[in-house]
Amino acid sequence: MPPDPSPPSRPAYGGSRIERAAACRGDEAVLAALAADERARCYVIGGEFVVLKKERDGFDPLFSLQAAHAIGAARERVFLGTLDGAPRFGVGLEPALIEPLKARDDLKITDLRTIALQGAVAADHLSPLAEAKALIGWHARHRFCSDCGAPTLPAQGGWRRDCPACKAEHFPRTDPAVIMLAIAGKRCVLGRSPRFPKTMWSCLSGFAEPGESIEEAVRREVREEVGLACVRVKYFASQPWPFPASLMIGCYAEARGETIVIDRSEIEEARWFDREELELMLRRAHPQGLTTPPPLAIAYHIIRGFVEKGGDVFN
Ligand SMILES: [Zn+2]
Repeated sequence: MPPDPSPPSRPAYGGSRIERAAACRGDEAVLAALAADERARCYVIGGEFVVLKKERDGFDPLFSLQAAHAIGAARERVFLGTLDGAPRFGVGLEPALIEPLKARDDLKITDLRTIALQGAVAADHLSPLAEAKALIGWHARHRFCSDCGAPTLPAQGGWRRDCPACKAEHFPRTDPAVIMLAIAGKRCVLGRSPRFPKTMWSCLSGFAEPGESIEEAVRREVREEVGLACVRVKYFASQPWPFPASLMIGCYAEARGETIVIDRSEIEEARWFDREELELMLRRAHPQGLTTPPPLAIAYHIIRGFVEKGGDVFN
């Protein structure tokens, strides 16, 4: 029996309908024409926060460029692409402007996790919001050249920063992280970070390191966090995770051995779960109230895949 047919079939933040139109990024005249297009709209971001327009029946994340610039001085404007021909931009406000905006009746200031969790905007907006947040956040953290230390300038519609002093070109980064379910037969390992809600258990995860393949990163993280050696590693799916700019690479890992040795500096708790218990957690029907992460997270889908397919996840 499937755990719950109602949750969305894919995690949040991926599956964008935006055509990124990268060929337009290098031409200032084309970018200006796109910005002047009457169909142009933008998402407004300030640090970790997203600005939404309050409507009678919900929230609208899209503003005209004029309306966005009227909210406050923009630090950056980035070109996200086009949606059915309509230009889409991201506007980054000075983070200091966000706090006073919370007092405004016509706006809602919230964060991207809450927006996804509460379904505050139509699901199609989540991916371009993630694109805007990750890109604007990159600008905020890369104001100076990492080669020579001089201030850098945005270029290419926000998809590059150039150093006028040493001519270095800097590109937005995405940090690969692996998130995996270590499986042995009909059981798998879930862990708890101290940051999690008390009843939530999830897949193990960690950043891939320089010089490492995805498979090697998966095996190392499982070995470090719970002391289990893994053999086969199978890719499942990935999820953009703009907190601040990760790509979560979901995998299954075939674990050898039984004994879990927890690295308490990384995780608070870890133990084996069988498929029956996981099914109750996915359905929010566990007798002790234990849960998996919500369907917005790829961990939910990794766990659900194991419950539905068992050991077949490797075939
Ligand atoms: Zn430089």
